[in-house]
Amino acid sequence: MKITAIRAHVLEAPIDQPFAFSQAWVDKRVGLVVEVETDAGVTGWGDGYGPPWALAAVIERSYAPRLIGRSPLAGDALWEELYNALRDHGQRGIAIQALSALDIALWDLRGKHFGAPVHALMGGPIRSEVRAYATGLYRRSDDRTKNHKLLTAEAEGYLAAGFTAMKTKVGFGYDDDIALVTMLRETIGPDVALFVDANHGCDRVQAHRLARAMEPLDIGWFEEPVAPEDIVGYAELRAATTIPIAGGECSFTRHDFHRILEAGAMDILQPDTASCGGLTEAKRIADLAWTHGVRYQPHVWGTGIGLAAAMQLLAVLPTTTPAFGAHQPLLEYDSTPHPFRQDLLVEPIVVADGVATVPQGPGLGIEVRRDVLERWRVN
Ligand SMILES: [Mg+2]
Repeated sequence: MKITAIRAHVLEAPIDQPFAFSQAWVDKRVGLVVEVETDAGVTGWGDGYGPPWALAAVIERSYAPRLIGRSPLAGDALWEELYNALRDHGQRGIAIQALSALDIALWDLRGKHFGAPVHALMGGPIRSEVRAYATGLYRRSDDRTKNHKLLTAEAEGYLAAGFTAMKTKVGFGYDDDIALVTMLRETIGPDVALFVDANHGCDRVQAHRLARAMEPLDIGWFEEPVAPEDIVGYAELRAATTIPIAGGECSFTRHDFHRILEAGAMDILQPDTASCGGLTEAKRIADLAWTHGVRYQPHVWGTGIGLAAAMQLLAVLPTTTPAFGAHQPLLEYDSTPHPFRQDLLVEPIVVADGVATVPQGPGLGIEVRRDVLERWRVN
């Protein structure tokens, strides 16, 4: 089997209800889907988390010429070759995000070639069902009363759908943040897990003040409190609060996560499979986290293809410490508006009663709807 063609599809779709996190308002959804064709009539699909036009350029101009004519089965060898091709210029960021998309597509191809799901080729499954948490509860209005009304209804919707955990956004200023998190804890009651995510919207002083004030609200984790470069800031906050500190969606490869772990900076690592270096690198980071006794909780924010890749990884993430009461990783289930996230899949990955099932078909275990791909493709 040889690779014959590689296409990077840039997708864009407007949304009716804009929403905000600490950095920006979101009024359209974008995606980067990579398609790897072979002479065996088998196609592999991948998802890249990052600026799609930039990822497409790196994939088509820098990586694709190195892959055409090669066997997709030599996983680690191809990963090292692509990483080394841009090592002098791209040890993190866009070069690694583009590599991630290709790596996921190559795993999909390998699974289809051997007739096995990716998780089986990676040594699993350790689990075939994963409890999901709803990612949502973004700011929807700058008017606090209106925003709280909208988010109360949204949180109640997640409860009604069977979710037992959910995540909201902070980083809008101390008063807004505390008012929101207090309101949400009252809405969902004491038995549902609540996580908060600042998207690195606080400096150290703000993060410490916010963490101290949130401690009585039983917060499951405080995600990206400070800038991703500020590893010392992470470690200091972790030492100062009882709330577990999480981060990693803006970090790349085992090299970044090695530094984070050596510094004792996080309780929970959150690499994005479609950004940190693909499934190959995610598994390496997971093993590194395990050796440090640190939890791994994948970040998921992309198309259904990225969601499927996350499910394959979740099936093989090592249990931090096996026991009757062992902690199990959760699926981050993006519940914000997205016109093509699940429409891209012939069979969407659904959460029923708060639980998602790992796809069992060959490769990523999904089929892509080309009509939906064409509808939203802009390149
Ligand atoms: Mg986040």
